[in-house]
Amino acid sequence: MQSTPAIDMTSAICLAALVGLVVGSWLTTVVERLPRIMDYDWEAQFREWRGEDMPVDEERPSLWRPASRCPACQAPITGWRRLPLVGWLLLRGRCADCGQPIAWRYPALECLTAVGFAACVWRFGPGAQALWAMLLVAALLALAWIDMDTGLLPDAITLPLLWAGLLVNVAGTFAPAGQAVLGAAVGYGMLWLLFHGYRLMTGREGMGYGDFKLLAALGAWLGLAALPLMLLAASLAGALVGLLLIATRRARRGQPQPFGPYLAAAGIVALFGSGISTGWPF
Ligand SMILES: [Zn+2]
Repeated sequence: MQSTPAIDMTSAICLAALVGLVVGSWLTTVVERLPRIMDYDWEAQFREWRGEDMPVDEERPSLWRPASRCPACQAPITGWRRLPLVGWLLLRGRCADCGQPIAWRYPALECLTAVGFAACVWRFGPGAQALWAMLLVAALLALAWIDMDTGLLPDAITLPLLWAGLLVNVAGTFAPAGQAVLGAAVGYGMLWLLFHGYRLMTGREGMGYGDFKLLAALGAWLGLAALPLMLLAASLAGALVGLLLIATRRARRGQPQPFGPYLAAAGIVALFGSGISTGWPF
């Protein structure tokens, strides 16, 4: 897009939103299937260690095949019903085959991706920087969704995201290269210290290693200086929602809550709020 500066901002933002709908539609498949792939791989490793084979009829799930299916009856979703958001709206949130409701969290993820992609172009202008920002937004949304569902932050996303952040910032796209390297190391180290400190004091585990890797990735993308505010905002938001859930009796005191969605949200806010080009105070 950088080679055609004639493209006006409004069309670029609309195009980004459309691309966001399509990518968001694929993300709904990813958040549904990646945990199943992880399950399969864990079992395969366990069986290999015990010297057993996987049952032949159990195939490793794939992110690409088969096409989307109804979560309830497994009927393939075909034709216009596959259109992101529009299909769900026209079906009024129900499967055409079995009539079971299709959760609103699928179109919600598509909408959020579309809004996020549009915001990337609005914030960074049509160009390479916006494309990188879209990659980060898509990965953070997928991670937040999977963590809400399963309490896991897959290495298959966090680790490539960390490397991508370091590579993107070789050219200082979002933060100077040195800041990115320090951000990755300190992001991991800070949460590692918090985790072990908390465990020493309370005997409980407040988060998981996936959270360390996610904060390391955010440090790599947004730089060391963005870490304290991100961690503070995520912790405050997490504590606030946790208190709300306890007050409304939707959670028990001491019940672990996923921290990844708050880190991901703080990362997206920091992406749009920071950046070396804005003269942000750090
Ligand atoms: Zn169905």
